[in-house]
Amino acid sequence: MKKIQKMQQAKIQALFCNKCGKELVLADGSPREGVCSVEVSWGYFSRKDGETHSFDLCEDCYDAWVRQFALPVAVEEKTELL
Ligand SMILES: [Zn+2]
Repeated sequence: MKKIQKMQQAKIQALFCNKCGKELVLADGSPREGVCSVEVSWGYFSRKDGETHSFDLCEDCYDAWVRQFALPVAVEEKTELL
């Protein structure tokens, strides 16, 4: 759940994990710890046609959530260019 200040530039003022309610650390409007931000636009064949749902999870809640999956999440390592 993001609280965004509407100014010239959208800036996150506060960011909370929707599952545990913990406030996530921000620096200059950007998260300074792991956060899983999800936004889903539900389509015609769903039971929520036309609705967009969004939520944020801290890394601990994300890890606990995906451990419940029957199949593991896909993981791809990003290599940084030096
Ligand atoms: Zn959490």
